[in-house]
Amino acid sequence: MKVVQVAIPIPLRKQFNYQVPEELPNILSLKVGMRVLVPFSNKKLVGIVCDLDASTDVDETKLKSIEAILDEFPVLSSHLLVLGVWLADYYLHPLGETLFSMLPAKLRKHEKLTELNQTYLKIAENVERKDALLSLRRAKKQLALFRALFDHSLSLSEAKSEYSTQTVKALEEKKLIEYEERIAPKNEWQHALSIERAFDANVEQAIAISTINKCSTYATFLLEGVTGSGKTEVYLQVIEAVLKKRQQVLILVPEIGLTPQTADRFQRRFGEIVAMMHSGLSDSQRLCVWHQARRGDVGIVIGTRSSVFLPFENLGMIIVDEEHDDSFKQQDGLRYHARDLAVFRAVKLNIPLILGSATPSLESLHNANTQKYHHLTLSNRAGNASLPSQHLLNITGQQLQCGIAQGILDKMAIQLAEGNQVLIFVNRRGFAPSLICHQCGHVETCVGCESPFTMHKIAGNLQCHRCGNQRYIPHKCSQCGNTDLSTEGQGTEQVEGFLSAYFSNYSCVRIDSDSTRSKARLNEILESINNNKHQILIGTQILSKGHHFPNVTLGLVLNLDALLFSEDFRAAEKMGQLITQLSGRAGRANKQGEVWLQTHQPQHPLVQDLVNNGFMSFSRSLLEERRAANLPPFSFQALLRAESQHLDRVLEFLNYAKSMLAQFINAKVIGPLPCVMEKKQGRLRYQLVIQSDHRGYLLSIMQQALIELDNHKLSSRIRWLVDMQPQDF
Ligand code: ADP
Ligand code: ZN
Repeated sequence: MKVVQVAIPIPLRKQFNYQVPEELPNILSLKVGMRVLVPFSNKKLVGIVCDLDASTDVDETKLKSIEAILDEFPVLSSHLLVLGVWLADYYLHPLGETLFSMLPAKLRKHEKLTELNQTYLKIAENVERKDALLSLRRAKKQLALFRALFDHSLSLSEAKSEYSTQTVKALEEKKLIEYEERIAPKNEWQHALSIERAFDANVEQAIAISTINKCSTYATFLLEGVTGSGKTEVYLQVIEAVLKKRQQVLILVPEIGLTPQTADRFQRRFGEIVAMMHSGLSDSQRLCVWHQARRGDVGIVIGTRSSVFLPFENLGMIIVDEEHDDSFKQQDGLRYHARDLAVFRAVKLNIPLILGSATPSLESLHNANTQKYHHLTLSNRAGNASLPSQHLLNITGQQLQCGIAQGILDKMAIQLAEGNQVLIFVNRRGFAPSLICHQCGHVETCVGCESPFTMHKIAGNLQCHRCGNQRYIPHKCSQCGNTDLSTEGQGTEQVEGFLSAYFSNYSCVRIDSDSTRSKARLNEILESINNNKHQILIGTQILSKGHHFPNVTLGLVLNLDALLFSEDFRAAEKMGQLITQLSGRAGRANKQGEVWLQTHQPQHPLVQDLVNNGFMSFSRSLLEERRAANLPPFSFQALLRAESQHLDRVLEFLNYAKSMLAQFINAKVIGPLPCVMEKKQGRLRYQLVIQSDHRGYLLSIMQQALIELDNHKLSSRIRWLVDMQPQDF
């Protein structure tokens, strides 16, 4: 009897054996990596076969049977299956859930996988052609399409683009044509290369390009190039060399960085062989890209985090653009970092990997310093553009209007009068970060999270930014009943309102997650900025994400101190990246730009270093601080977080874990300490940080601890999770 091992997407760290009944159709084609339908505790679940030849000590006749084989070919290639097993080990996540996280949503469900189909149009059966021609004589376009279908069928997309959707519809309604599904022909793209001419590379670009081109086996290149230094041009030129070998390229970009402008640049250079993968696509569209990559129909896929799981026919290079970006780390479920996976895939496939950024993560810099990565630098802006200058403005004791110093308002007036744009970074969306009673000082707070409500004027409510909880704006204090309530601090809405009134001859635009709910809306705003419809840009982090604003000549960071002080040891690194990336938006064209940072701490040594010496110097100082404190990347961390409404349970569980982990002498266990968000949706959140100098050691003690923790009596009564190499605390 044949017994196979199946991974099922459930939170258990084990796989299950099933019989393969002989009468099952297509049993001979069953392969590892295919999905099967299996009975599992009164339900039917989709699982993935991970071993074709499972030995078992239980009586095999007692095993349940597979009910159906869902696929014609494996949804996970052997390479991806190896990746999945490594992932599950490395992030201590159940294998079944891990493998399913790697699939497009459509394949996680009970849906049959067949070859990529395309819809074709053909003349309907039983149509009398002569009569039809006669009936169409007054409809020229319909007649033409109908005639075209005489000799051969046409793909629906071809027909629509040549004859218009209405024409197709009209013939369909007259029942003259019908649709047929066929396997899409393979797209051969050898000839689609280099449509637009490349720039002549400057000296630093040329060194980077030739170094990368020389490499055809595994190597990781850290391409550290200041904003606007022509990193993308380097990508384009090395990609061309890979495509010429008829290999594919995967480009990972941050969540918000994948704009039509980015896509355009690659499409202008390489034509139709570029596919996009992002959250704006429907599940069917995502599945289509999955097929295209797997079949080799496309040469380049540009996509966000989860694209790192795409199958490829012949992958020849991976690029991670803006490699420092937080959005590469998944923050729930399988908490993977797409950059780490990119490294793993490149090693396994023996292909080059490029990590590009103006503000590399300290992890990558450390790897470059220790020669694990090759370090390539672009130290100047390409073309004629120069980097903006950065300045600190001490606002201690200054009269501010809506948080802005008069000197800045005057500078804004000058730039606006000259036809330039200005950009203001505010670290909070909404109108104000808190609503306070003038009488008793009570702050309106979300009960579930014990965190102040942010006031939103446009939505007309109070919102908790932790849990999304909303409330009407109260007319009187919920504590003392006084009606004199006032806001404290500034959010983007307030700054927008103030600046629209102050500079009433100019147009303001707000760019935060409230104003850009959809991807299409964000793209619209970006376009209208580049068309100069707005002169004053007010926004949150989104502003720092790789967009080009060539007409911005003045940037303002409203409240630098809010970025500087935080319990997270990565706060300074993130601050430096944010400020540098924001500054990078300004003065892109031939105009010189300047950026002002308002602070109460102008003498802060890190800030001084950043402003006077730039990110390269600043990040080296940070790295030295991390070395001295033995923090990552000089050590490795795991986080064990527990949450419950009952504090005693959380503490009992964590203390148990601590006592167990304390036996291992080469690791340090810190905590239990409250998380940065100590309370969320009524649950109290505490954590242990486990730290060791050796990644492998940390992994193995966490594996051992997990076995015990899974069996602990509180394990199923509280929420808990493990985050390996956590980015947020
Ligand atoms: P980055 O990706 O580092 O931010 P880009 O590749 O977007 O930089 O380049 C910034 C600008 O410089 C772009 O407008 C690009 O077209 C231009 N550019 C890049 N390389 C060159 C070059 N070698 N000569 C002239 N202009 C260049
Ligand atoms: Zn809340």
